[in-house]
Amino acid sequence: MLLEVKNLKKYFPVAKTFIERLLTREERYVKAVDGISFSMEEGGVFSLVGESGSGKTTTGKLVLRLIDPTAGQITFQGRDITSLSQKKLRPLRKHMQIIYQDPYASLNPRMRVGEAIMDPLLIHKIAEGEEAKNMVLEMLEKVGLTPPEVFYDSYPAYLSGGQRQRVAIARAMITRPKLVVADEPVSMIDVSLRASILDLMMDLRKEFGLAYLFITHDLAVAKYISDKIAIMYLGKIMEMGKTRDLFRDPLHPYTKALLSAIPVPTPGKSRERIKLKGEIPSAIDIPPGCRFHTRCPMRFDLCDKEEPQLKEMKPGHFVACHLYS
Ligand code: SF4
Repeated sequence: MLLEVKNLKKYFPVAKTFIERLLTREERYVKAVDGISFSMEEGGVFSLVGESGSGKTTTGKLVLRLIDPTAGQITFQGRDITSLSQKKLRPLRKHMQIIYQDPYASLNPRMRVGEAIMDPLLIHKIAEGEEAKNMVLEMLEKVGLTPPEVFYDSYPAYLSGGQRQRVAIARAMITRPKLVVADEPVSMIDVSLRASILDLMMDLRKEFGLAYLFITHDLAVAKYISDKIAIMYLGKIMEMGKTRDLFRDPLHPYTKALLSAIPVPTPGKSRERIKLKGEIPSAIDIPPGCRFHTRCPMRFDLCDKEEPQLKEMKPGHFVACHLYS
């Protein structure tokens, strides 16, 4: 197993106003991730799907230990990394990389493309000098930035969004990681270029044998690339399973609603859209019982009283909903 996450939580304390400090001692928290468990195989693609505020980006940062968890356990390549110091994490960092959503913010504008991609090689003492430069040129070619010599000396400001994201991908791949967290890597890229970036990422996965933890709000993108999907809502996993099972036999009302919003590619055909009421509630005041009950079209008496637990309905297919209790 490459990655195992058990009962992971991240609560961010809410800053109190002066009056609140006088009136109450009670601390309040944003429960961004509220007890999730999952595992990832070597070389797999596991997507976390949900609306903004579902906790998927926080989960990505937690598994890379870019932020510290409040509770739970993270095991990477059989080693418990939950409370490793940043010093002890350093040698592992080359095996765990991240691609951010915004290709404009993720690169240092003062660094040439070649320097930006070479940086991790120097930091992790993998290569230097001519050897490092050749590795960068080879990587530029692999990510489709050709002729590589021209891109090597360019500054990010002269590149398009799609080209910058290719640079960010090259930078993440140059250390030959085993796990890459890809946080909405195509959502800020022109629609016409998205499929080519996703195809590139899948080609690199095959070539390097790496796994992606793919974070997206778009279930159609997740379907295109994943072996396994988890649907997140307000910090919890609502449903999780193989991509094929989730699309053929969705169980959770939230999954069904998300699926109904995907356009049907066949002309003249459409599916009935399940419209959800309202917005995702605040992660400070999570609704009691099933946290989805305020928007669920299937809710019944038990739903606002008891929290449903994630239950395995058939091998590898889990759901958290009282309809299946
Ligand atoms: Fe809807 Fe109830 Fe199931 Fe929650 S537990 S998803 S409110 S039916």
